[in-house]
Amino acid sequence: MLSVETTDRRLSAYDDILDSERRTGIRDRADRLEGERIAHVNTTADGGGVAEILHALVPLSRDVGVDVDWYVMDAPDEFYDVTKAIHNGLQGHHTSLTDEMRDTYRRVTRENATALEERYDAIVLHDPQSLGMAPTLADRYPDASLLWRCHIDLTTAADTYLEFVRSWLEPIDRTIVSHPAYAEALPNEETAIVHPAIDPFTEKNRSIEELPADLEGSDPSEYPFDTDRPLLVQVSRFDPWKDPLGVVEAYRDVRETVPDAQLVLAGGMPDDDPEGIEIYREVAAETETDDDVHLLTDLPDVGINLLQRSADVGVQKSLREGFALTVSETLWKETPVVGANVGGIPLQVEDGENGYLVEPEDVDATADQIVRLLEDDELRERLGEGGRETVRERFLLPRLLEEYLSLLASEIGR
Ligand code: UDP
Repeated sequence: MLSVETTDRRLSAYDDILDSERRTGIRDRADRLEGERIAHVNTTADGGGVAEILHALVPLSRDVGVDVDWYVMDAPDEFYDVTKAIHNGLQGHHTSLTDEMRDTYRRVTRENATALEERYDAIVLHDPQSLGMAPTLADRYPDASLLWRCHIDLTTAADTYLEFVRSWLEPIDRTIVSHPAYAEALPNEETAIVHPAIDPFTEKNRSIEELPADLEGSDPSEYPFDTDRPLLVQVSRFDPWKDPLGVVEAYRDVRETVPDAQLVLAGGMPDDDPEGIEIYREVAAETETDDDVHLLTDLPDVGINLLQRSADVGVQKSLREGFALTVSETLWKETPVVGANVGGIPLQVEDGENGYLVEPEDVDATADQIVRLLEDDELRERLGEGGRETVRERFLLPRLLEEYLSLLASEIGR
């Protein structure tokens, strides 16, 4: 297990945004957690939504006086092959889960649970990767509360994989998911629903003018697209469920009506996602002859920020999606989003208010809604303003902080 360093965050930064009820709620819950020690565990400190959330949630929890640590598992590549298969299986991909895969999972999660040196009052295990640590942790620390935070859409999970996950849930005191529909797949009656959230003060989400002028990646001229022409952007790992090839198809349809449109697909290669490079190569091969399609990898946060702001339309054409922080990030920048009506996207995209929802496989509808937005400046502006409001009301970090602290306080108190 490797301890993760984070950059300080202050709740006082939210003074202009926070109402007094929220502020009091956070303080009350932080007081209830005085003297308690909490750990979060996941598999990567860099890339993907979970790391993004923990980089904000952990230091903000500390700022309000809660004693929180964050660890990432120490695991060989073969473990991530197994956990990506579990991830895909839970999203509906029917493949086998062999005895060898089960053994690898059991062995690596047990080793990591055994390697935890410190004692905690509550441990939050994120996603299926770390769930297998639960039985060993329960043996070692019988008084600790164990929470499992599942960020995945479980509504179409393949039975084998769902059964596998359920077989590890017995020591878990509380499960947390992002959508009520995901809870139906789980036996635990006490599943909590918590929507993720974004931190508006990071280099990814702050207005570019507020960031240091010489920050690498903050100058639009460093990028290969033309800011004077229509721009579509999808920011997502190169993952089949994010459907990058479907986005390319929709872009090609859009070009029939808006011939100067450009497309950027930006994606990182997180350590715990072995499929990334393969999918990237597939998309690169499909688009290599088109100078207006740009695949950008491993951009700094300010680069993601700039893209989400520069886009005329944000696209999130996922086929499955636990939540999609990228949608909130894009809406926050007053860029309307055309998103698939799947998983967590319809929690954020409101049709005709801040973007448009389309059926996940419907390339034609995706292209039509993108064109509608590209052709109407006023509509884009109105929906852009609507998006910022959606995020301000429901998807900013203090709300998530309060919900986490509340759950932890009630679990530890039981
Ligand atoms: N992200 C990034 N660089 C990239 C691609 C993604 O920083 O090249 C970030 C993105 O801004 C978001 C997170 O990774 O904060 C992805 O979270 P999301 O919930 O959208 O999807 P997940 O990867 O967790 O399925």
